[in-house]
Amino acid sequence: MTELLSEEHQALAGSVREFAEQVIAPVSAKHDAEHSFPYEIIAQMGAMGLFGLPFDEEYGGEGGDYLAFCLALEEIAKVDQSVAITLEAGVGLGAMPIYRYGTSEQKQKWLPDLLSAKRLAGFGLTESDAGSDASGTRTTARLENGEWVIDGTKEFITNSGTDITSLVTVTAVTGTSQDADGSTKKEISTIIVPSGTPGFSVGAGYDKVGWNASDTHPLSFTDCRVPEENLLGQRGRGYANFLGILDEGRVAIAALATGAAQGCVDQAVRYASERKTFGSPISSYQGISFKIARMQARAHTARLAYYQAAQLMAQGKPFKTEASIAKLVAGEAAMDNARDATQIFGGYGFINEYTVARHYRDSKILEVGEGTTEVQLMLIGRSLGLR
Ligand SMILES: Cc1cc2nc3c(=O)[nH]c(=O)nc-3n(C[C@H](O)[C@H](O)[C@H](O)COP(=O)(O)OP(=O)(O)OC[C@H]3O[C@@H](n4cnc5c(N)ncnc54)[C@H](O)[C@@H]3O)c2cc1C
Repeated sequence: MTELLSEEHQALAGSVREFAEQVIAPVSAKHDAEHSFPYEIIAQMGAMGLFGLPFDEEYGGEGGDYLAFCLALEEIAKVDQSVAITLEAGVGLGAMPIYRYGTSEQKQKWLPDLLSAKRLAGFGLTESDAGSDASGTRTTARLENGEWVIDGTKEFITNSGTDITSLVTVTAVTGTSQDADGSTKKEISTIIVPSGTPGFSVGAGYDKVGWNASDTHPLSFTDCRVPEENLLGQRGRGYANFLGILDEGRVAIAALATGAAQGCVDQAVRYASERKTFGSPISSYQGISFKIARMQARAHTARLAYYQAAQLMAQGKPFKTEASIAKLVAGEAAMDNARDATQIFGGYGFINEYTVARHYRDSKILEVGEGTTEVQLMLIGRSLGLR
């Protein structure tokens, strides 16, 4: 589908593909097995400018667009979803909220290191009772003598506990307001909490089904004090701002899922052409070739969906529904293709060192993170006027 891309975009995708195949792929199985964070790979990606792709040069970015970032995610996710999600969350959840809503001081202070991947940042929205229904936030922050005092917990926060994490931005209830009908509404704001702040602790990493080489932790805040100027964006706009960040993030996750879906196709084509049963390559059996053809159709459709959402974003047009459609279609394509690819690999598909086995474990979360499949269906339904 390269004919839909500019020469610059094609060149970028080509160089990231080469890096993914030559540098990331050879160490993916090792990091997955050891559950180790690939610091050396992230540093190289930082030097290549991948963490700065969709940001202004003023803050050390590459001045590229969101599609460029998505193309990089697709290429990396073909071989390694853990590395791809580290990039996706580093840019989309770590740097982007500061870039979109930060003061110029906050941007100058935090962005240059985040855009070069010298440091990483996380975004803490999810809590034990606030996932799909993010308005269930219980973490609180109160102003006291020029400081925000934060108390509460967060769950599943990506990039929050690496050796190079510089901050997490958290949503917290900072007060209440009255609606026109007299009902009380939570005022949710977002606050930057630098790593190492007393009262902020990072729990042990989760034992996950997949994305083993990515960093995910529970966080807790007890009488955790940060300066008043660490408020990110307007007080009370935290929830609304975060929904905007999630819309963009869904396009990026769709690109990542497209990469996973395509990676499964590429692996299946190669294996089916080499593997022989009953004297013939298994690709010669229609039961296998039809399966691969369907996998390719899913990856193709997912790619078109995220290209279109990214294009609408670039044109400054509404893209919320298209982002949900892309996320829905691509997440399902990744999971379905991973299931079919492991079937094509037979017993080898069940052995962890094979890329398809990793995709099988890794892809499930693509139907859950940054808005579950059901949440996307809810949003698409709402766009049709269904309540
Ligand atoms: C590896 C990993 C990384 C993550 N990274 C981050 C991060 O960096 N930052 C962050 O804030 N969060 C992060 N998350 C959290 C993730 O975004 C949430 O897990 C996700 O949004 C779902 O929330 P939940 O787990 O509370 O599920 P719930 O909201 O409890 O949902 C449970 C089930 O009910 C369904 N459901 C809920 N409401 C409805 C409804 N109205 N109609 C129909 N079905 C419904 C859901 O679709 C789901 O199937 C991460 C999670 C994981 C596992």
